Amino acid sequence: MNSQGTTQGAARGRGTRIVHSITQVRRAVAAWHGQELTVGFVPTMGALHAGHRSLMRRSKRLCDRTVVSVFVNPTQFGPREDLRAYPRPLSADLKACREEGVDLVFVPSVATIYPEGFGTKLKVGDLGNLWEGRSRPGHFDGVATVVLKLFSIVTPDVAIFGQKDLQQSVVIRRMVSDLNLPVRVVVSPTVRENDGLALSSRNVYLDRLSRNASAGIYQSLRWARAQIKEGETRAGRLRTRMRRMIEDGGYFSLDYIGFCDPLTLTEKAGARRPLAILVAVKCVTPGPAQGRRYIDNLVIR
Ligand code: AMP
Repeated sequence: MNSQGTTQGAARGRGTRIVHSITQVRRAVAAWHGQELTVGFVPTMGALHAGHRSLMRRSKRLCDRTVVSVFVNPTQFGPREDLRAYPRPLSADLKACREEGVDLVFVPSVATIYPEGFGTKLKVGDLGNLWEGRSRPGHFDGVATVVLKLFSIVTPDVAIFGQKDLQQSVVIRRMVSDLNLPVRVVVSPTVRENDGLALSSRNVYLDRLSRNASAGIYQSLRWARAQIKEGETRAGRLRTRMRRMIEDGGYFSLDYIGFCDPLTLTEKAGARRPLAILVAVKCVTPGPAQGRRYIDNLVIR
């Protein structure tokens, strides 16, 4: 039940509007704000799965109205990352949004977001060069730029991001604070497969053997958490054993394991709480998953 006293059933009754233009989004949100309704926003790149759906549900619990954007943002892809191959199952995505009772789905074209002559870009500071940023230069500048644009179009009261992309959520929090944006950022827990693999649109590329081996990523994080809770602080020892669990069988190669502060993501000398453990791996199995990155993390308070 939200502040209007509506329930999910009533929300379904309202229907899901799909819009492509900035004006349509602005009009809808202005009307809601005019009725003193709060607006939650879930930015996505589509290929929606249960992880995205959990963010929509969180938004619906927190706010009177929910807006989802589906936009594969070209500026966050590197030159060697395959933007064109990114999955775009739009009708399945719209179905998912309808099933979740989303009020408005914003599906802009690239030209709507980056019209001819577009030139202003956001530069994320040092945070953008750590961890994922080291392997994906410019990635977080692209993320921050598009999220700022989407915030300025949607003007949400609350924006919901997944903990799965922990560094992204830290970058967005930093941007919101640095630029005094009037939006509350909420980070929602990672949704996982039964064996612990974090849901991701990239998981479909894993064949049976590499999919089995991928469970080692979360297993290594859980193992490290248990060790730390028993008093282990030697990052080197934890890292060595985690690497073995991840690379076992030869399906994945480790990019990094980071022991860092959960708020700033600066590296910690010892694995002491509060702690975020970040993992990034690359699939090395020949086939469609080869070369793809998989990331995960755990925060230990
Ligand atoms: P993407 O479409 O990959 O840009 O992701 C859109 C949002 O969904 C981001 O805030 C992600 O962190 C979040 N997300 C992706 N995978 C998961 C997951 N397994 N659990 C929770 N949130 C997720």
